[in-house]
Amino acid sequence: MARKKSPTLLPDTSCLQLVRLEADEQSLIAIVETTSSEALCPLCHCRSKSIHSRYTRVVADLPWAGWAVRLKLHVRRFFCRNPECQGRIFTERLPTVVAPSARRTTRLCDLLTLIGFAMGGEAGNSLVERMGLEASPQTLLRLVRQQEERQIPTPRVLGVDDFCFCRRRSYGAILIDLEQHLPIDLLPDREAETFKKWLLAHPGVEIISRDRGGAFAEGARQGAPKARQVADRWHLLKNLSETMQSFFLSKQSLLKSLIQQSAAEAPPEAKPPELAPWHSGMTKRKARKESASSSAASRVVPPDPGSGSKKDRCGHHCPKAWGKPTNGVYLSPNEAATRAHADSSRRQTAH
Ligand SMILES: [Zn+2]
Repeated sequence: MARKKSPTLLPDTSCLQLVRLEADEQSLIAIVETTSSEALCPLCHCRSKSIHSRYTRVVADLPWAGWAVRLKLHVRRFFCRNPECQGRIFTERLPTVVAPSARRTTRLCDLLTLIGFAMGGEAGNSLVERMGLEASPQTLLRLVRQQEERQIPTPRVLGVDDFCFCRRRSYGAILIDLEQHLPIDLLPDREAETFKKWLLAHPGVEIISRDRGGAFAEGARQGAPKARQVADRWHLLKNLSETMQSFFLSKQSLLKSLIQQSAAEAPPEAKPPELAPWHSGMTKRKARKESASSSAASRVVPPDPGSGSKKDRCGHHCPKAWGKPTNGVYLSPNEAATRAHADSSRRQTAH
């Protein structure tokens, strides 16, 4: 049976080839072997072609259409022929496929790390299970914590504010690079001493945007005395709102007298000019409809109170007591009787 390479299925086709595929009820197993005839000693970095022995490693890989996939890797041990090397036997490495002693391929670890960052432990675990993978919430969080911290330069404009780890119980502080709009660090509490230490360890902050005093102001004064402190936007608006409120409250009597004076001097209320319907929010089509409706209503003949027309329970003349509607116009009982008599005479003449 000819060995068939599948460049899209294997993590790195430059060093691996697929021998065959096996399947059970739960997963696919890809039997894979290395293609290189030599290997590099991890201690002295000398090449060796002297094979000592072979063994297999089973590692999890990316799922295929919801099926869990395992790679059964046939790897080799080599002799190191360098007499100055401290090691005599080494195992060939596959740095682009799997880390030494790892149980998952590198690309699978990358995917799980991404899920851990995006969704966290529990939610990420729910997604991972639906994908046919195996990884506990703790595994996802461990992969996230293993990532190296990204070194972020000290911001020129720093924003600081408190946030709650647990509402009304424990609070921390969040630091934002206001020019990049990125959170850059979290402090375990909102004490002045903690903020001061952070500023001393990250010199170069020129502007600090903070709340209205308190611990952050004190920490900024001690940790970055040359930095300019400004109120953040929310507190600036709050300051403005409170100032305006207190100003108008102090002028309450003056405002009342001005209102009374303007009411006394105002001319008698004139009838507002009648606006075109579309000025008052009514469309031309609706205006035409209403105009036609009012015209039809003006043609309705009101009932004659003296003609003995029926009244409803509330004493009003009921349209049902009138004649049948003709082209949408109700006739009074007298007029309906006259029109019925005329119709009858016209029919007899015709016969
Ligand atoms: Zn060696």
